[in-house]
Amino acid sequence: MESIALRDAAPRPRETTEFDALIIGAGFSGMYQLHTLRDRLGLSVQVLEAADGVGGTWYWNRYPGARCDSESHSYCYSFSDDLIRDWEWSERYPEQPEIIRYLNFVADRLDLKRDICFNTRVASAEYDEPANRWHVTTEAGERFTAQYLITAVGCLSTANIPDLPGLDTFAGDWYHTGLWPHEGVDFTGKRVIQIGTGSTGIQSAPVIARSAAHLTVLQRTPNYSVPARNAPLSAEFRQWVKDHFPEIRSVMRSTTNGHPFRITDRSVFDVSAEERLDIYEEAWQRGGLQFRASFRDILSDQAANDTAAEFIKHKIRQIVKDPATAAKLSDIDHPYAAKRPPIDTDYFETFNRDNVELVDVRADPIEAITPTGVRLRSGAEHPADIIVFATGFDAMTGALTRMGIRGRDGLPLTKAWEAGPHNYLGLQVAGFPNMFTITGPGSPSVLCNMPVAIEQHVEWITNCIAYLRKQGLARIEALPDAADQWVQQVNEAARATLLPKAHHSWYLGANVPGKPRVFMPYAGGLARYRSICDEVAATGYQGFALGV
Ligand code: NAP
Repeated sequence: MESIALRDAAPRPRETTEFDALIIGAGFSGMYQLHTLRDRLGLSVQVLEAADGVGGTWYWNRYPGARCDSESHSYCYSFSDDLIRDWEWSERYPEQPEIIRYLNFVADRLDLKRDICFNTRVASAEYDEPANRWHVTTEAGERFTAQYLITAVGCLSTANIPDLPGLDTFAGDWYHTGLWPHEGVDFTGKRVIQIGTGSTGIQSAPVIARSAAHLTVLQRTPNYSVPARNAPLSAEFRQWVKDHFPEIRSVMRSTTNGHPFRITDRSVFDVSAEERLDIYEEAWQRGGLQFRASFRDILSDQAANDTAAEFIKHKIRQIVKDPATAAKLSDIDHPYAAKRPPIDTDYFETFNRDNVELVDVRADPIEAITPTGVRLRSGAEHPADIIVFATGFDAMTGALTRMGIRGRDGLPLTKAWEAGPHNYLGLQVAGFPNMFTITGPGSPSVLCNMPVAIEQHVEWITNCIAYLRKQGLARIEALPDAADQWVQQVNEAARATLLPKAHHSWYLGANVPGKPRVFMPYAGGLARYRSICDEVAATGYQGFALGV
């Protein structure tokens, strides 16, 4: 496994625990935020990071087949021409170890690690109103203080391990994909059960099946997937990217999802049924998330979506040889792309292998984990030496609500968000002055190519803090009315799409028992969101209270 990250663990003596800004998390967002606040504004900044290396989500998600589904040349920082010039991606989609290598390259190039405390997990963060300071305590009992608190904790960083009876009695080994051991897991000769068929499970099953003696995939909700068509990048393409990066950056910054391609302007119904099939076939052969961009109305019009959905279901039935398995895989109950649309390498083909079996746990739910495997409600037993939980995350809010954050008058964030996340522009919560959230709920975040969304947030926060300092202001806080109106806008943006129709989606918090069902990301598109944020800044930060 990747070992470069392990070198970062050396503790260093603390000269001070008092800073202008504290950043929690050293993934894509925390690293860039450190760079802008420290190197552009000259602030004293400390990053607190639970892991022993940089990488955030990518540090933890080392499961078999872990790979990003944004294309490499767009899944990177775009703010620095030097970084673009000096880094070479090897494949169309970056694999987890390569992303970790990239982030270490950036951290070293920008000399970031000297201001990151690794192995440091935050236990609480409390706002002290009279002093206008955030006091942060770590699990080891260290205390840090700062004027600004910036959470850069990622949207998919808190593992969701279902509370299944009997897990503690299981005699074999079990793992969650988001907390994968650094030394890897050897499946050779093992009987493996994988629970979950989201983006992660769709990536891991084909890789596990290649070495395991037997793989049983427990599927609750069948899922669409389009081939990724991963391949090594040619020297010509890599040169083309370097030569054209300004145009690529400009496309990424001006499109709905922050990807380096535009959604076409044609409707599904502008073309004949035959032409439509040709367009889908061409997109299927090209592979990747661009499939979703084939028509402009796939995500807004049910009848349009049905055409894409039916095309993919037909492909599944063509690929999977056993008709009963094909029927279970293609019996999909939600619109295409209403859940995060996975892309895959040989996912459906994997079910043609003799050592792979699909079990429908919607029809026959998991009742318990036993010492020897998984028992279903019908009494059917599935034996296993290893269980892999590809069961996702307490997404978007989980990491924030578990950090003991308290705002003015000791208000816990968990209380402020009892009915679901509530904030202004996805950037600030009323009652939590000087706390900024990077790509949290209420922002386009997970509906985008993440580095582009992250750069927009980091740059906005940096400009905001620069403005406050220039004006001699010490405090910024979202106004409750502005937050109410923003939450309404987030809801309206979601309702204008088919996204809320996927009732089991983590976008809605539906994957975690007891979590409020609120559509969390802003679905109005990154370009529109960017212009709203820019307008707010240009007009003196309307919707925020600024103070000395
Ligand atoms: P996910 O999309 O939430 O999928 C979790 C899977 O586990 C679902 O199939 C879910 O079924 C199932 N599950 C959960 N609890 C279960 C239970 N008690 N019994 C049976 N099945 C259960 O999680 P994920 O696949 O880890 O993906 C999360 C997100 O991470 C993605 O949507 C994507 O944004 C990101 N991601 C990206 C990449 C990439 O870039 N290539 C790769 C992996 C992940 P239900 O659907 O019925 O709830």
